Amino acid sequence: MDTVKHLIELQKIDFELMELSDLLGDLPTKVEKLIEEEESLVSEISDGKARLKEITVELHKADIDVKISQGKIDKLKDQLFLVTSNKQYDALMHEIDYLKEELDRYETRDLELMEEKSELEESLKSNELTLETLSNDLSIRKGKLEKLLDETSNQKKVLEVEREEKAKKIASNVLARYDRTRHAKSGVAVVSIENNACGGCGAGLPPQIVADIKSASGIRNCDVCTRFLYWEK
Ligand SMILES: [Zn+2]
Repeated sequence: MDTVKHLIELQKIDFELMELSDLLGDLPTKVEKLIEEEESLVSEISDGKARLKEITVELHKADIDVKISQGKIDKLKDQLFLVTSNKQYDALMHEIDYLKEELDRYETRDLELMEEKSELEESLKSNELTLETLSNDLSIRKGKLEKLLDETSNQKKVLEVEREEKAKKIASNVLARYDRTRHAKSGVAVVSIENNACGGCGAGLPPQIVADIKSASGIRNCDVCTRFLYWEK
């Protein structure tokens, strides 16, 4: 029957398409993953650099705050020698204590910023190194993939056109069943009968079914694995 013949030919085209895609192996997925990693590293590095700029400005401000605060304290300390009353002395001491607390806050902020800066510089350095290695790897794999795609693209186009033409000759419900079975059974959806059994899973076939298939009357599928069956003359 023609449908079985078309199915066998369709499967042959699909085998060839599978071989082509096997040639690429896991390269397309690898390249895609590396591109994602590269993008995320680039954005991490750019964020890091932006933060580093901010820190430089903040550090400069923190340094100035420390100096101003220190200067105020020194000035007040000098005034301590000029006071004439206990009350004046206490007031000055009170002010100095307040300024010391403020200075302490500025110095802590300064230290925190310096710590953040050094950690950030460290991680930037390591990210840049990783990016360099990754980009090299990516460009080699990309090159390989492009070469392979280039070599196979024409062949693939021809096969895809052939497949489309062939598929038009098969009833859509049969074609849908074929595609389902093909995906479920590692690409093998049409098998010949071997010793009165399914050539795909080996399940024995009733004599009537074998006779039907031999006389090519209608389409038969294996009850066990659902593959299409045909008789190889
Ligand atoms: Zn079977």
